Amino acid sequence: MRYEDFHRRSIEQPEAFWADAAKAIDWHTPPQAILEYDNPPFRRWFAGGTTNLCHNAVDRHLDARGEQLALVGWSSETGQVRELSYRQLHCEVNVFAAVLRSLGVGKGERVVIYMPHTVEAAIAMLACARIGAIHSVVFGGFAAHNLALRIDDAKPRVLVCADAGIRGGKVIPFKPLVDQALARAQHPPAHVLVVNRGLAAELPLLPGRDLEYGPLAARHADAEVPVEWLESNEPSYILYTSGTTGKPKGVQRDVGGYAVALALSMWAIYDIRPGQVMFSTSDIGWVVGHSYNVYGPLIAGATSILYEGLPTSPDPGIWWRICEKYGVRTMFSSPTAVRVLKKQDPQWLRSCDLSRLQYLFLAGEPLDEPTADWITTALGKTVIDNYWQTETGWPVLTLMPGVEMKPVKLGSPGLPAPGYRLRVIDENTGQDVGPGQKGVLAIQPPLPPGCLSTVWGDDGRFIASYFSHFKEQLYSSLDWAIRDADGYTFILGRTDDVINVAGHRLGTREIEESVSSHPAVAEAAVIGVQDAIKGQVPVVFATLKRSDGDAGEAAAEMMRTVSEQLGAVARPSRVYVVNALPKTRSGKLLRRSLQALAEQRDPGDLSTLDDPNALEEVRRALERGADAGA
Ligand code: ATP
Ligand code: MG
Repeated sequence: MRYEDFHRRSIEQPEAFWADAAKAIDWHTPPQAILEYDNPPFRRWFAGGTTNLCHNAVDRHLDARGEQLALVGWSSETGQVRELSYRQLHCEVNVFAAVLRSLGVGKGERVVIYMPHTVEAAIAMLACARIGAIHSVVFGGFAAHNLALRIDDAKPRVLVCADAGIRGGKVIPFKPLVDQALARAQHPPAHVLVVNRGLAAELPLLPGRDLEYGPLAARHADAEVPVEWLESNEPSYILYTSGTTGKPKGVQRDVGGYAVALALSMWAIYDIRPGQVMFSTSDIGWVVGHSYNVYGPLIAGATSILYEGLPTSPDPGIWWRICEKYGVRTMFSSPTAVRVLKKQDPQWLRSCDLSRLQYLFLAGEPLDEPTADWITTALGKTVIDNYWQTETGWPVLTLMPGVEMKPVKLGSPGLPAPGYRLRVIDENTGQDVGPGQKGVLAIQPPLPPGCLSTVWGDDGRFIASYFSHFKEQLYSSLDWAIRDADGYTFILGRTDDVINVAGHRLGTREIEESVSSHPAVAEAAVIGVQDAIKGQVPVVFATLKRSDGDAGEAAAEMMRTVSEQLGAVARPSRVYVVNALPKTRSGKLLRRSLQALAEQRDPGDLSTLDDPNALEEVRRALERGADAGA
């Protein structure tokens, strides 16, 4: 099939297209209407149909593939590998569901899951889905403050946590963090259910409130809990956005639309059929973990690999050995992870048999050309840039090898996924811009199945955050984009990463690309800093490929490069060379915190920060003074 025909049908005949796609999942009651759209921008996909995510991910595969591997939990941290067939997964999920029920969790109630990236976390999610409870997974790297914020927004009945996480060999006890969060929260849950991995030296339990999962599970060892059939538009989960740009929003997902979109994406985008293996290196705490570690592969009847640990430990060959061992067909990772591997000897890759690996998808941040080039060459496989958001739940821009593989264009995540009517809008006029012109990437509603239904508990915020940016009611991605004459879209950065220099509006991402094109530069972050005369000026923080390079010389050359490529107005006012840039654990640059430090303000909530040393680096650099510029 031609990609163009596939996409066109999804736009011109959405109801026929999605009615076909809906056949890929089991319905308890078939949908009464494929699309209800009488209250825009809200829309209801598969209205009146009832279904269940856990049934589609687990139960319905028991007959055809009960003994096939469903989940593999590989931990380089504990040295343990847990393999579960669909039948074993079914048992485990039933037991977990029975335990949740014994704690009074019913349909529509929330369960916060604060766990490391383990099979147990996936079981907890599926158990919630089974009984119609709404899970809200909070990334295990978040500290007490972030956890408390999310608890107060979701108001859970139960919080499920592990005794500890472990990273780079260091045990991080979770329970004390949970206790701190609950002490701060206005709406603490009635119970804390602790899955004890035997990692924490101590496990403080508050009698009556805190319970260990193990003994409770033993009491429900043979439990069978019937699935709760949910109307397609009832909430399945809440997942908070990563909060790179401000207060996190509780993205609310539905049941039927999400299941159908994932089922479609598994074959059309990731080219995975039942029985094949997908390995996503994300974490259960992010949207990729939800969609492509848990629900997507399982709905497709595939095997999903969950990896806990660093990509370089015990050695930089570990991911490739996993690919070889399980015959991974499609891998999903992030540019940050690839940049880490890029520093290693490519021999680690070459020594493994990767004959079954077909694709590497990369998402979460812009995929720069040097990184794309390196991994494409080192791996000798198709590397596909994926653009999407927590809000959308599945790709917005991608190439679709399961339908028709179009040529890769470096720097572009490609073409619209089915159901997405994408437009590039001039922020001032609200009109569509032409090919090659820059605008805001927008989605013409109704949003396709799988995208958020609303912001949890706040329909007003849903409209205000996403649908109030243009004269027309369009979903704003809040990202800049350019579409070329072939329809390939290039993402240029976030709309709030724009700085205003003496009346000129400049995208920090464009300046970053220009700085990064200098051969000495490993990575760069550009922010706008207040300036009495110009309003704002661009300031660069950069890391060098060779730490022994001459920082002053490189910094001066970066300034020249930007002037030459983008014009004098974009010329950075100061360049600081540092050893590390502050990033979140998901690899996103914390420009907001950089900017605050540069303006001598409080850097704000730093619990998403990956490496606290990076922030110290920046503080020291600011004290020391710029390597080039004033
Ligand atoms: P918040 O919305 O709370 O500030 P966030 O936007 O960082 O957090 P996510 O939903 O995890 O949270 O990230 C989605 C954003 O990541 C996109 O809007 C885009 O800016 C960026 N992004 C994701 N994939 C790509 C990609 N392939 N190329 C360029 N940018 C990408
Ligand atoms: Mg966002």
